[in-house]
Amino acid sequence: MNGKMQTIDGNTAACHVAYGMSEVATIYPITPSSPLGEIADAWAVAGRKNIFGETLNVKQMQSEAGAAGAVHGSLVGGAVTCTFTASQGLLLKIPNMYKIAGELLPSVFHVTARSLSAHALSIFGDQADVMATRQTGFAQIVSSSVQEVMDLALVAHLATIESSVPFLHFFDGFRTSHEIQKIEVIDYDDMAKLFNWDAYWAFKKRAINPERPDTRGTAQNPDIYFQSREACNKYYLATPAIVAKYMEQVSTLTGRTYNLFDYVGDPQAERVVVAMGSGCEAIEETVNAMSAQGEKVGLVKVRLYRPFDVDAFFTALPASASAVTILDRTKEPGSVGEPLYTDVCAAYIDKGMAPPKIYGGRYGLSSKEFTPSMIKAVYDNMTASEPKKRFTVGINDDVTHMSLPVAEDFKAEPEGNIRAKFWGLGSDGTVGANQSAIKIIGDNTEKYAQGYFAYDSKKSGGITISHLRFGDVPIKSTYLINEADFVACHNPTYVNIYDILEGIREGGTFLLNCPWSAEEMEEQLPGDLRKTIHDKKLKFFTVDAIKIAQDVGLGGRINMIMQTCFFKLANVLPIEEAIDLLKKDIQKTFGKKGDHIVAMNISAVDNTLDNLIEVDIPESWGQAAGSIPPKPEATDYVEKIMYPVQALKGDDLPVSVFPPDGVFPTSTARYEKRGVAVSVPEWISSECIQCNQCSFICPHSAIIPILATDDELKGAPDTFETVPAVGKALKGYQFRIQVNALDCQGCGNCVDICPAKN
Ligand code: SF4
Ligand code: SF4
Repeated sequence: MNGKMQTIDGNTAACHVAYGMSEVATIYPITPSSPLGEIADAWAVAGRKNIFGETLNVKQMQSEAGAAGAVHGSLVGGAVTCTFTASQGLLLKIPNMYKIAGELLPSVFHVTARSLSAHALSIFGDQADVMATRQTGFAQIVSSSVQEVMDLALVAHLATIESSVPFLHFFDGFRTSHEIQKIEVIDYDDMAKLFNWDAYWAFKKRAINPERPDTRGTAQNPDIYFQSREACNKYYLATPAIVAKYMEQVSTLTGRTYNLFDYVGDPQAERVVVAMGSGCEAIEETVNAMSAQGEKVGLVKVRLYRPFDVDAFFTALPASASAVTILDRTKEPGSVGEPLYTDVCAAYIDKGMAPPKIYGGRYGLSSKEFTPSMIKAVYDNMTASEPKKRFTVGINDDVTHMSLPVAEDFKAEPEGNIRAKFWGLGSDGTVGANQSAIKIIGDNTEKYAQGYFAYDSKKSGGITISHLRFGDVPIKSTYLINEADFVACHNPTYVNIYDILEGIREGGTFLLNCPWSAEEMEEQLPGDLRKTIHDKKLKFFTVDAIKIAQDVGLGGRINMIMQTCFFKLANVLPIEEAIDLLKKDIQKTFGKKGDHIVAMNISAVDNTLDNLIEVDIPESWGQAAGSIPPKPEATDYVEKIMYPVQALKGDDLPVSVFPPDGVFPTSTARYEKRGVAVSVPEWISSECIQCNQCSFICPHSAIIPILATDDELKGAPDTFETVPAVGKALKGYQFRIQVNALDCQGCGNCVDICPAKN
């Protein structure tokens, strides 16, 4: 197949297939699956047609439970129906999942696998939600990458209609759902050719119909429930072969091979890992790097997790394996082992085979990083003199001592990739600009592209770090960039808050948005940052993007300027071509907002390169000293947990510092003063009409209106300006608008809303 290459994320890939292969989608938003419903809705509004020649009927319900109930009703009515969800949303669907599976109704639930709320809520990715549904009767098929999401979503839709068993197709939340990759998109005509139309019409005939009434959803007593429950067995026994058949057909169509379990690595491997989900990409990369060093290692990737086909598993696993480690991205407290571990152990018993040495580990909970160094530690554990039989990897468990030590900095990423990291502020446009940059490069060059965007759950106002890779082969590095060729810092305040150059490679490029002259750098940049620039022989560039943006009328929107600088410095595309594509993208993105907006953005691009300055690095920076200013003394909790988390060092904290029940002290927001606003509003007392709208609109509660009597104001400094409060009831009071500059994010909402602004 020579399908169209597109640079898209996992959610878009899943939606492409779900939309094409369904007649109805019922939706309810929950991170990180929300874009699936939004995209489907947008395509339906635009009139896109599915393989049935119809527009998908998209219905938003009142909850995830409602969405699952509507799937059930729609299926019973004979419409091919899908839905999308994650985490607690999936748990709310469980009662209906039992009904859908129990009544052998074909459907696909696309799930962006996510943590469940336990000691704390987390919106990030692991497989705890999916594992809580493995007993419902849904088949479970898992994708490890954005390309696999496209291919295996199709397998799920093809297999469900033929098997009558509903499918849960899952992929890791954020790491796959939100990762942007350049992938091959399967055409709807090709999907239609593989679709079992006889099974489709047979399904339609099973629908409720007043012309041929039947009774469903009955109550059964002890005499017959058990037998009835067993009557569905043959469907589950037939499902693996049906899935395998469609995997083969999709493999033939795409040229990418899929089996129920796939093996990569040395055919005579002695140490083998079994895993599923996005971690398989990084494990495969590590296996390749270790094999190149002569180590006999391999990986079994689970594709079809339920029904678990024991024979297919042992077909994939090399007989030479003398040690097998099973990795689970979930935690089942109190169990003998996590679900995949116990399945593999049971498979040996089922097959009557003596097991080799078997180990089980947990990794990657809540999108915790899973790097080649950690993976190497997993393989090393299998040959250690005292291996850990059950372990965790990626954290420091200094309480129960289950964690594997990760001593070695093992690199597995192939040579030649370009790696770029961008520091931005949530909602400042940095992530959007990088998404656009990666699409421009992916769609207009031969290069493969990967974009991953790390941000915390504060979203607007939180820090964002964009990780972009470009290379000549598909990129399997499903972990953050730890050795960057290019680092851009879009917010100058970050130099005094974060270690922004951590991991930049020697001779790399550093771009800083700031208004500082070369002399001012001495004052503004912490000593250790200057020393890193000097010692690593970095090429250091600055641009005053705020000034350019303000000059062309874009206010604080600096993304076009920083994007232009990136294209110039990263050199992935010839700069003239990049600028031309960027301008076309501006036209496409802002065309509907009017010529004026388009002109301002184009003007920003045109004014950038003349203002991009390369800084000569003084020799004295080699002796520069002084680091990020220390935080004020605080409580034990703040110093041991909050401050490291704020400095993005939370990954280094050991288990022992955390309360086991997730209970934390209160009154700690006062220690989270970041001071990241590039410009802060100023209250002009003579203009103010005291409407308080600025305080009401501020999303960060940074504006406090104050009423005070003369007595209360005694002793206030001269700079604490007040004016008489307006209104009879406030006679005798003074009024003031107080802006807390350390809480302000510089969004400008207060200025926009102020009716008295000049
Ligand atoms: S710019 Fe205004 S609205 Fe925005 S965070 Fe600052 S004070 Fe609040
Ligand atoms: S919105 Fe403007 S006029 Fe209203 S209280 Fe704030 S500064 Fe004064």
